[in-house]
Amino acid sequence: MIDLLKSPPQSCVRLVLTLRAVLLEAGGKVVTKEVSKPKLLAGEILVGMKACGLCGTDIEKMRGQYTVSLPVLGHEAVGIVAEVAKEVTGLKIGDRVFPHHHVPCYRCYFCKHGSETMCPHYRATNLDPGGFSEYFRVPAWNLSHGGVLKIPERISFEAASFIEPTACCIRSLKRCQASEGDTVMIAGAGPIGLIHLMLLKLEKATTIVTDISGKRLSFAKKLGARHIFNPSETDVPKNVKEETEGRGADIAIVASGNPQAIVQALSSVRRGGKVCLFGVPVKGSYLNHDFSDIFNSEVSIISSNAATETETKAALKLLKDRKFNPAPLITKFKLGRFHKAVEAAEKQECVKPVIVP
Ligand SMILES: [Zn+2]
Ligand SMILES: [Zn+2]
Repeated sequence: MIDLLKSPPQSCVRLVLTLRAVLLEAGGKVVTKEVSKPKLLAGEILVGMKACGLCGTDIEKMRGQYTVSLPVLGHEAVGIVAEVAKEVTGLKIGDRVFPHHHVPCYRCYFCKHGSETMCPHYRATNLDPGGFSEYFRVPAWNLSHGGVLKIPERISFEAASFIEPTACCIRSLKRCQASEGDTVMIAGAGPIGLIHLMLLKLEKATTIVTDISGKRLSFAKKLGARHIFNPSETDVPKNVKEETEGRGADIAIVASGNPQAIVQALSSVRRGGKVCLFGVPVKGSYLNHDFSDIFNSEVSIISSNAATETETKAALKLLKDRKFNPAPLITKFKLGRFHKAVEAAEKQECVKPVIVP
């Protein structure tokens, strides 16, 4: 690797020839490889990765629980523009950027009817070869559809790597119309549950967090959860009702892929309440719940999948305004210790591993 990124003169020729990347091979094998630098086409940029969060879905992809055949690893990446192809406007070498991995068209039927993340273009492009790579190419589509945001100096790269997951949480809270005064139950105190918790605190909602890990629950309490319940020790729906004058929570966010958590959420919301499915259930998951109960209680089941530029911009603004500080959630791992980061996440030794070069 020839790296001329350290304070390069703007005019010098970039000589990135190969790059080290963590890739997912057929059969779910994760390998760290030296690969050729992707060739840039018109309208594209090459970004030197400075931080990329490890998402639960990355681990699901490695374990073959994700539906896409050969998915890309690493989508919470931020970095510094290292190369700019022709026809790129508004960006230059050295800019600190968040490039969104998936960007909708904003023009099709789905986009115009509020389902932007269901746009056929949304998943058509991705970071190449992925976010866990020293450098990656950002497709022209993502650039030309507003998918690249500049990160101000005052935001660290590690904090900026939270733009994508935070945007997804902002969207889910919007989809279930969480507002001030609501009591919101969050099932799952992993990174996504905790980001929801921090955002709900900004909304002045009353929060109830559930998890089977006592360690995670006490961390949620430290971050401001009003009540914490461990479903392996207590009857969660009963406790939630007790804390809400017998009603149940207004909203339950399921920040876990466990179908049991969904059932528990359905039993913990009030009549007329909402259950938001956020965690990705394992393929082939079925729900064991009496649906007449859902109808009779007029409970709405809402799912929220990914985010658009409306939310990535909102997440960036929260970081910029210092309203949201993900620092307590972050544990850094070098790219070369990627497997350690996965292990730490799976064993819950840390909340959110962030990979740095
Ligand atoms: Zn993610
Ligand atoms: Zn569209």
